[in-house]
Amino acid sequence: MIVIKGVAASPGIAIGKAHTVEPEEIVVSRIEILPENVRQEIKRFKAALDATYRDLDQAESKVLKMLGKEHAKLIDTHRLILSDPLITKDVARRIAEERVNAEFALSEALERINQAFEKIQDEFFRERRHDLFDVGKRLLSHLLKHEKKSLADARAPAILVARNLLPSDTLNLKDSSVLGFVTDLGGKSSHTAILAQSMKIPAVVGLADASHRIKTGDELILDGDQGLIIIHPSPEAVAKYQKARLDSLKEDQALDELRGVPAVTADGHKLKMMVNLDTIEELKAVAGLKPDGIGLFRTEYLFLNRTAQPGEEEQAKAYSQAAKLFDPLPVVIRTADIGGDRVAHLGFETPKNEANPFLGLRGIRLFLRHSDLLKTQFRAIMRASLHGKVRVMLPMVCALRELQSARRVFTQAAQELLGEGVQLPKKIELGIMVEVPAAALMLDALLAEADFVSVGTNDLIQYVLAVDRVNEEVAHLYDPFHPAVLRLLREIVETVHRRGKTVSVCGEMASDPKAAPLLVGLGVDTLSVSSRMYLRIKQIVRRLSMEKAREAVRLAAGQADSEAVRRALLSIEA
Ligand code: PEP
Ligand code: MG
Repeated sequence: MIVIKGVAASPGIAIGKAHTVEPEEIVVSRIEILPENVRQEIKRFKAALDATYRDLDQAESKVLKMLGKEHAKLIDTHRLILSDPLITKDVARRIAEERVNAEFALSEALERINQAFEKIQDEFFRERRHDLFDVGKRLLSHLLKHEKKSLADARAPAILVARNLLPSDTLNLKDSSVLGFVTDLGGKSSHTAILAQSMKIPAVVGLADASHRIKTGDELILDGDQGLIIIHPSPEAVAKYQKARLDSLKEDQALDELRGVPAVTADGHKLKMMVNLDTIEELKAVAGLKPDGIGLFRTEYLFLNRTAQPGEEEQAKAYSQAAKLFDPLPVVIRTADIGGDRVAHLGFETPKNEANPFLGLRGIRLFLRHSDLLKTQFRAIMRASLHGKVRVMLPMVCALRELQSARRVFTQAAQELLGEGVQLPKKIELGIMVEVPAAALMLDALLAEADFVSVGTNDLIQYVLAVDRVNEEVAHLYDPFHPAVLRLLREIVETVHRRGKTVSVCGEMASDPKAAPLLVGLGVDTLSVSSRMYLRIKQIVRRLSMEKAREAVRLAAGQADSEAVRRALLSIEA
C-alpha cells in the first residue's frame, strides 16, 4: 500500500482502477528505411491516413449530436488539411526519396506547413495552425500506434491519472465514466480544481510524480477531502473508504433540507448566499439548490475547446436561459476571463508562450485589446436582461481607466441595441471583481464608477502572496489565512461599507468550511459558493454566532502569522 499526499482539489472519495493518460508530447525519431521497405512504409502511412479519416467521421457524428451543425464544420477543416497534397503527396515522396520513416517524414511536412502558416498576416488564418497540430497529432498517434486516448475514454469507470489537466481537458470529462482524477501538477484554487468541484468529480492534484508510479489497472483510492491517494490499498483500507463514501453520501442527503432555507446565523444575522455557475449545463442543478441568485457566472467556458468564438446569438441564448430561470433573482455574468491557465484557441490573438501567464494578457486586459469581443459579450448580456435581472462583472480590473474603457464599450453596446429597437431596462449594473491588490487598494476610487464589487479571493491570494495558484511547488504557501490576506479583506469590506454598498465574495474562500466563517465575521454581505459546497456552507452559516465570528476575526486580524490566525478563529466554533 503506497500513500501519496497531494492537494485536495475536489471533495469526495473514489475507489477503482487507474487509467493513465499519456503525456501530450510525441517524440519522433529519424529512422533510415532500407530501399526494399519503402513501399511497406508508404503503405503504413496510408493506413494511418485512413484511420485518421475514420476518427474524423466518428468525431463528426459526436460533435453533431452534442454541439450541432455549426461546430461540426470544424471537422471539414480537419479533412481539408488531411487531403492537402503537402501531406498526402509530400510525405510519401520524402519516404521514398529520403528513405526515412513515415513519422519523421510527416513531422517534417507538418513543420513546413507550420512555417507557411506563420507567415500568414491574417490572424484568423494564422490561428488555423491549431487545427493542423490537432490533425497532425492524430495522424502521428496512429503511426506510433499510440491510441490517442481521449480523456473520457476510460471504458470501465476508472480514476484518471495524468501529469496535468487543463481546464479545457477537465470540461471533456463531462458525461464520462471517470470516477475521479489525480494529477502531478496543480493547486487547490486552479481552474481545473474549481471545475472538478462543480462537475462533482473528486480530485487530488499536486501529487509530484504519481503519474509515473501508477500504471493503468492499478487499484486506487482517491480521497478528495484529505487530498491523498492510496495505490494498491489493503482490503481494510478499501472497506474503510467504502464506509466513508456511504457516510458522506448520507450527509449530503441530510443537507438537502437546507434548500431554500434562509442563510441566517444562529443569532439572527442575515446573509445572501448565491452560487457560482461554471458551465451552462449545470444551470438546472444549480437552480435546484434554491440559492439567492448566481453570484458568478464564469462565461469563459463558452469560449474554450473550440476554434471559433461564440457569437452574440449563442451567448445571448445561454445568458437568457440563466436569467429566465432565476428571474427575479440576480444573475451576475462575468465577461470571459480567458488567459492564465484558461487557454483558448480562438480566431484572434490569444496569449501564448507567456513567461508568466497569470501576469499576462488575461481577463479584461485581453477583452479591451479585442474590444469587439467585449462589445459582443455586452450585447449578448444586455439582450438577456430582457428575460431577468442580470448584472455585468469585469474580471482582473487593476486600474480605473480599465473600468472606464470598458464602460465606454458598455454604453456603445447599449446605444446600438436601443437604436435597433431593443427595449433595455433603465439600468444594467456594471461591477468589478476585486482580485488584484491594486484594485483592493484603490477601491474607493473604483467604487465611484463601479456599481458593485465581488472579491475574487482565488486570484487575490495568489497576487498578494506571490504564489502561483496552479503551481504545486508552492501550493503549501497558498494560504487564505495569511494575515496579509485577512487585513486586505478587512480593508475591502470597510471601504465598500463606507460607501454604503454591499460586498460579495465569490472566490473559493466562500466555499471553504474553515474560511467562510471568517468572511462572515468580517461583515461580507454575500457569499457566492461553488454548487458542490453550497448546502454545507449554508449549514455552517446557520450554526454560526455572528457576534462570536466578529470577535474572533477582530482577534485574528491582530496576529502576525497564519497559525495564530487559525487559532484565533477556532473560538468561532467554541
Ligand atoms: C477568483 O479569482 O477568486 C475568481 C472567482 O475568479 P476565477 O477563479 O475564475 O479566476
Ligand atoms: Mg479570478
